[in-house]
Amino acid sequence: MTVYIGVDIRGTKIAASTVDSTGKVLDKARRETPAQDVAAIANAVAEVAAELQAKSSGRTIGGIGVACAGFVDADGEAVVFAPNLAWRDEPLAQRLRDATGLPVTLDNDANAAAWGEFKFGAAREAKDTVMVTLGTGVGGGIVSQDQLTRGAHGMAAEIGHLRVVPDGRRCGCGNRGCWEQYASGTALVREAREMVAAQSPHAAELSALCGGDPQALNGTMITTAAKAGDQASIELLEDIGRWAGEGMASLAAVLDPDMFVIGGGVSAAGDLVLEPARAALPDN
Ligand SMILES: [Zn+2]
Repeated sequence: MTVYIGVDIRGTKIAASTVDSTGKVLDKARRETPAQDVAAIANAVAEVAAELQAKSSGRTIGGIGVACAGFVDADGEAVVFAPNLAWRDEPLAQRLRDATGLPVTLDNDANAAAWGEFKFGAAREAKDTVMVTLGTGVGGGIVSQDQLTRGAHGMAAEIGHLRVVPDGRRCGCGNRGCWEQYASGTALVREAREMVAAQSPHAAELSALCGGDPQALNGTMITTAAKAGDQASIELLEDIGRWAGEGMASLAAVLDPDMFVIGGGVSAAGDLVLEPARAALPDN
């Protein structure tokens, strides 16, 4: 049986697994990411691949699929830029072929997530799907007519930078009013911190959770408080969900998907976010 190795390279960790052709995970391995040393990152990937190969008891390794947190060129060969890693025009696919001796396919993490959901996950019945990850930022991947949409330069589906508010909040990308300034986990925590810092009586529960220190608040605390019935936390998540739905409504008008798949840390809030998101979409 031929098996494959999937590797997810993030700012702090490299997570890898062996999977069979149905997407079933057979073995796992991980390493910390030596984020500032491009050769060391490739060596760490080769190490996890070797570890998984040793565990695969003689099965043929058909290749390595690599997902990374960065901008990947349209050919799937190089990482043009990665905000949290040292890659700048890094020929990662070739470097990993050289380091492992195996075929390597490279894509950005959101495209890889979209493809995984499309092939084996929530969207396997769909033909046209949009993956939306609500995490530190808002990421995405678009599958249209059974194909990933990459764009002319490999930069398609940077949906977090969809402009939803003209002259809105300043974004790290340099523009204003980007969707991720309103629908991400970062936006959720920012709003909650502002409420605690303003000593709003409405935020008493959140304030107690973080010991009165707004900087100690995190998304998990807010989700946990909301699930326990804290009204302020519920409303904060509703706002995120509503913004998520507004952005998806725009995407739906352009792409006409038969399904959105929502991932990322904020999705752990479940219906607290999904219900207001659905309500903001047409035909729901
Ligand atoms: Zn932006």
